[in-house]
Amino acid sequence: MDIIIYEVTKCPRCGAYTCEREFDYDLNCFDIYNVLHEFVASVYPDSIEDMKECRKALKDGECPLCDNWEDGLGHTLGHGTN
Ligand SMILES: [Zn+2]
Repeated sequence: MDIIIYEVTKCPRCGAYTCEREFDYDLNCFDIYNVLHEFVASVYPDSIEDMKECRKALKDGECPLCDNWEDGLGHTLGHGTN
């Protein structure tokens, strides 16, 4: 199965990359890589609405690490993650 990456957002503050990718049918998840391109964590939205919120937040300049997002699995992300 091909993995389709939809959008990559780079954080202007810490340089982290957030990559939206296919996860579960219409639901996408977000993989986060640090400035060294090392994988840090994935964020799994609960719903399409939640996913859209994430997209919008990224577009507005939010960063899963700088802004301490929940990963959807009960963990809070941050620069101490990983
Ligand atoms: Zn950041």
